[in-house]
Amino acid sequence: MTKSQNSFVTEITPQSEDFSRWYLDVVRRAELADYSPVKGCMVIRPYGYAIWELIQQELDRRFKQTGHVNAYFPLFIPESLIMREAEHVEGFAPQVAWVTKGGTEELEERLIVRPTSEAIVGTMYAKWIKSWRDLPVLINQWSNVVRWEKVTRPFLRTTEFLWQEGHTAHETEEEAEAETRQMLAVYKSFAEEFLAMPVLDGEKSSSEKFAGAARTYSIEALMKDGRALQAGTSHNLGQNFARAFEIQFQGRDKTLQHAWTTSWGVSTRLIGGVIMTHGDDSGLILPPRIAPYQVVIVPIQRGNWQETVLPSAQRVRQELHAAGVRVFLDAREEYTPGWKFAEWEMRGAPVRLEIGPKDIEKGQVVLARRDTRDKLPTPMDGLSGRVVALLDEIQQSLLDRARAFRDEHTARAGTWSEFREAMEGRPGFVVARWCAEADCEAAIKAETQATIRNLPFEQAVDGACVRCDRPAVRVARFAKAY
Ligand SMILES: [Zn+2]
Repeated sequence: MTKSQNSFVTEITPQSEDFSRWYLDVVRRAELADYSPVKGCMVIRPYGYAIWELIQQELDRRFKQTGHVNAYFPLFIPESLIMREAEHVEGFAPQVAWVTKGGTEELEERLIVRPTSEAIVGTMYAKWIKSWRDLPVLINQWSNVVRWEKVTRPFLRTTEFLWQEGHTAHETEEEAEAETRQMLAVYKSFAEEFLAMPVLDGEKSSSEKFAGAARTYSIEALMKDGRALQAGTSHNLGQNFARAFEIQFQGRDKTLQHAWTTSWGVSTRLIGGVIMTHGDDSGLILPPRIAPYQVVIVPIQRGNWQETVLPSAQRVRQELHAAGVRVFLDAREEYTPGWKFAEWEMRGAPVRLEIGPKDIEKGQVVLARRDTRDKLPTPMDGLSGRVVALLDEIQQSLLDRARAFRDEHTARAGTWSEFREAMEGRPGFVVARWCAEADCEAAIKAETQATIRNLPFEQAVDGACVRCDRPAVRVARFAKAY
């Protein structure tokens, strides 16, 4: 069976025609995920899961480096527990999945399937924390959560997804705030260094903060269709959950005090972010640091290639593997080299390595970059060093490109008419002064569909709100969002 290059590529809808279709085509064709018989749930396929594993490994390393340890809490949460924090219940109520029966018996107390773990973690922390000497508690868990969603899209919004949730408890408000900000910084550097996805860090407005939090911080990325994606959040929970769940400790001064807690999380949504930050009409473009295969070797099947080309390809594979490169040798006979080129382009492999009889005569291979499509004839001598350097170069160039795109699609608006024009004329972020009033935020959303993504930390604001005449108290970043 030989498939032509053309029939293959046309299976992806161009971005300019329908971005949302493009996204779904890439997810399915690149074999990242598939729909499942369970409504609203996806199956993460091995290629997609390999990306998640790479994300997980690096984040886990960074969490441990900042003093955290992993644990695991139950999937089920008794109804009475979640009811203890009123704002929290209200925030999650519409998305909760209930368990009412065990086997054939009606349960005495209904259980909910974990939408997030504050309630169960808080209950356990109340048992474990007695004295200031027990603090801080710095725990993370890798788990799945269930949020009953009406409209779903693979990786971006599904009823069940994978994530990590950090839950920490501290002696003082300052420590809790420092932890919240530290984890936001961990997310930001990870997103930029590993996913090559530039993000804006800042504080959420009151209406967008986590249910029950004192303050929520987020990182926000800009997708290629000009919509923003919330890529991670870190919450300072103040003493709200400690009061609700009675997490109390004897302080250094012997008084009984409530702990200060935080929580923070990122999810498989990051994979959706990577697809929409870097991909193009030919499919996925993966940053090398999270690519399951950083280099795919395609031997050119000519003449007796199995005796001539294949052994060289195998040697190259060994050499790259020994240099720590994730490499795949695509020696399948039933597909032509042209078909394989298109397939690995579509699946986003950062570098394709072509090797044929003529290359062997010249003592070289051809490296093809997925990001720029440049073809670089490269000597076999010193190949692994060159490939490692090239992967770093690609990683950096993807970040630069995404940052340039984000900056080009960020406008400043001083007046309401400028704001409307910027929001309707071109996708992206619009930065403007804001009065910090919820009714004004709601009016902006109703008129333009734009929400406040977050509020930058650096605050020098002078003048009136962009929408109403009240004095501005914050600068805000607006965008239409996923
Ligand atoms: Zn206003």
